[in-house]
Amino acid sequence: ARPGRGPLARCPAPRRAPTRPRRMMKSMMQRAAVPSHRAARGAVAASAPRRVAAFAKGTGNFIVGGNWKSNGSTASIEALVSGLNAGASGVGCEVVCGAPFVYLRQTMSTLDSSKFAVAAQNCWEKGPGAYTGEVGCEMLKDIGVPWVILGHSERRALCGESDEIVADKVVAALAQGLKVIACIGETLEQREAGQTIAVCERQLQAIVDKVGDWSDVVVAYEPVWAIGTGKVATPAQAQDVHAAVRAFMASKIGAEAAGALRIQYGGSVNPGNCDELAGMEDIDGFLVGGASLKADDFLTICASAQHSA
Ligand code: PEP
Repeated sequence: ARPGRGPLARCPAPRRAPTRPRRMMKSMMQRAAVPSHRAARGAVAASAPRRVAAFAKGTGNFIVGGNWKSNGSTASIEALVSGLNAGASGVGCEVVCGAPFVYLRQTMSTLDSSKFAVAAQNCWEKGPGAYTGEVGCEMLKDIGVPWVILGHSERRALCGESDEIVADKVVAALAQGLKVIACIGETLEQREAGQTIAVCERQLQAIVDKVGDWSDVVVAYEPVWAIGTGKVATPAQAQDVHAAVRAFMASKIGAEAAGALRIQYGGSVNPGNCDELAGMEDIDGFLVGGASLKADDFLTICASAQHSA
């Protein structure tokens, strides 16, 4: 066992649309002198206000993930899938549903695959072998799971997943052709100590050290204090961190790749707060826990993509 790996560490747990030029936040444009998506379209000067109605729709990159966590049964997932399928025609962005391992096949075989992809919520990173109870990336690939959520704060806190382990999992998943939602975020104590950006950068750096190509990675910024608590980050708080994350990533993987990197916000997103959050410049989607278990709420959150800046 590696240092930092707790006793529950062995409790277990996937590419994306082609990248294309996207908007760059102003600071990145200044740093990297790369034309923004908007500027490249010749329509909005860098000094223009962030939210411009003409650009409020149609970036095509918004991505919403549902993290069902360790919830559900055959019957409840059947009902949830049925509700999602009933509203599928209204879904105008990429959507990924994170089902428990044992329900992955059921979910994949029943969910409308033209609208919803499926994710696992963890994976084992060391390959096949004597790893009792673990589910390898190879297995996920074998049954056709396209995505995996990695580094969720619950796994970091409850299962002892260190930054290094999370990075190893990202490497292993990408090697199997899985697309990854990589979660980062600070605790309340860290935020109050002014460490929010440093924590996010440390968690990202561990992955940057091992992953060069980020085109199949989505970053989910999930402040731990907002997960499952009903305390949502304000749009400004979320935007500040997202902008800092993108600037950090630009300094590591280049402005173009960082501009194409999708950064989700996660933490008590619900039908009442999603539209305003979606309008923030560097919020490219959501990772949703509790509300993803209610089909109507989740579909409403997916529809907030139309407010994406
Ligand atoms: C999560 O678990 O990733 C999450 C964001 O949960 P919730 O939406 O319930 O806060």
